[in-house]
Amino acid sequence: MSDLVGVDLGGTKILARFVNPETGWSEKRVKRPTPSTGPSDVLEAVAEVIEELDPDRTSPAIGIGVPGLVTADGIVTRCPNINGWDSPVDVAATLSKRLDRPVAVGNDVNVGTLAEHRVGAGQGTTAMAGVFVGTGVGGGLIINNRLVAGARGMAGEIGHVTTHTGGRVCGCGERGHLEAYAGRAGLEREARRLHAAGTENELVRLAQNGRIKSSHIAKALASGDSVTEDLIADAVEALAIGIGSMATLLDLPLVVMGGGVVDRLGKDFLQQISESTAFGGFGSSVCELKLAERIDDAGVVGAAILAADQFL
Ligand SMILES: [Zn+2]
Repeated sequence: MSDLVGVDLGGTKILARFVNPETGWSEKRVKRPTPSTGPSDVLEAVAEVIEELDPDRTSPAIGIGVPGLVTADGIVTRCPNINGWDSPVDVAATLSKRLDRPVAVGNDVNVGTLAEHRVGAGQGTTAMAGVFVGTGVGGGLIINNRLVAGARGMAGEIGHVTTHTGGRVCGCGERGHLEAYAGRAGLEREARRLHAAGTENELVRLAQNGRIKSSHIAKALASGDSVTEDLIADAVEALAIGIGSMATLLDLPLVVMGGGVVDRLGKDFLQQISESTAFGGFGSSVCELKLAERIDDAGVVGAAILAADQFL
């Protein structure tokens, strides 16, 4: 199979590389900042990055990962992480016309999940989910060896399932979502709220006025700070409810977990989730939790695999 161009379109930068979709091996890189002047400038910049990387047009198809909701046919329905992008755009059609080649488009977390499935921790299973716990909580879904996008690109968005009815306010504005309990930003909001209400805690003491980072969470846990322990217990509970319910509903034998918070807290954190009495559905015996392999440039690799799946 020939090497394909994979592109990671991020909120701040665009990265393109050549990728072997069977091994995940990648080479060469072209990078530039993401324009903040709206989708047509962004797509033109993406096209220019691809032309710079592949001037001879050796790649038979292109794959692109985008930080927004993306339908299976490559329409980006929501993209709040890129400035000036406030309405749906048919990225696949626009770019395939511009580049005169087929273009596959997927959500960045979804294509990261696809990379884990083919060349990472999920190899060998036909169905799995990726759950990435960072600033927020993102997820991707593989069923019958294929990435599932859903009708509006929402499939796999485990961060916004409700685990606590009427609970903490989520980054999306709704209440009680998993992300409000397990995402780094949600933990930070709660730690600062407690601090403002007079409950001192290590997280705010370590971060001062800066961002509470995953490393602060690990440090505060190691020092035995009880507020942090309670917050992480809530995060574990939310993840156990959400992951267990999803694994039972969709019959997933494997969930691969990554992201900044998981990278810091490691296997112990996964074990706490597995052993939680809150684990949803038929319980943790139906679903193994594994750490992601943290593939280099997973977004780029997964985007190229998506293009290979769709067009080769
Ligand atoms: Zn939400």
